[in-house]
Amino acid sequence: MKRTAAVLAAAVVALVPAAPGSAAAAEFPAFGLPAAPGQDVSSAGIHSESGTATVMNAIDLTPRDGVVRAPLAGTVRFQHCSGGDWVVVDHAGGWRTGYYHLEGIAVTDGRQVAAGAVLGNVGNALPCGGSSTGAHVHFTLWRLDAAARSPEAAGDWDGISHERLATDVAEAVGVALSGRTFGGWTLREGTEQYSGTATRVSTGEVVPLPGTLRHEP
Ligand SMILES: [Zn+2]
Repeated sequence: MKRTAAVLAAAVVALVPAAPGSAAAAEFPAFGLPAAPGQDVSSAGIHSESGTATVMNAIDLTPRDGVVRAPLAGTVRFQHCSGGDWVVVDHAGGWRTGYYHLEGIAVTDGRQVAAGAVLGNVGNALPCGGSSTGAHVHFTLWRLDAAARSPEAAGDWDGISHERLATDVAEAVGVALSGRTFGGWTLREGTEQYSGTATRVSTGEVVPLPGTLRHEP
């Protein structure tokens, strides 16, 4: 049975690279930035969940108005820790986005949100550990696997420390931000943590990170 499962798993995995790049790209949802348009959004750059792991699936963002908004419609899922709750949003297709450090959380667990809905304010909250120097949102990308048996991959992260998010969860379902487009900006990771670039798709303008994105109206 194990062998059959392994072969099946291998066959499923093989389907992914076999798909043409355009199909894979089309599969990625039309995310916005997690901020209202028409303002500057500063970024400390692209990094891994912890700043030391390998999958660079996170970026620190600070919109000028300090308000964090859903970049795409979805369902709010609170993750509970000893230090409080933090917010993730589940989108169609298994995509999940995370919003660590939020203060003044403006949504409730299980609530459906539209793109642009206010989630809360940038902050320094550390409900499951980690660190923060200066109010921002630590925005993270994952793709859950509904068929997975592990709670990490299935997305049940109650009580999971930020350290385990950076290791077990990131390895299971973390998706690198590099090459993904949010609100018309295509992100590219750098060779170092907290670096990279954001390229405005419409003009080709390249902003080195850390840097400031002018989020068009
Ligand atoms: Zn961060």
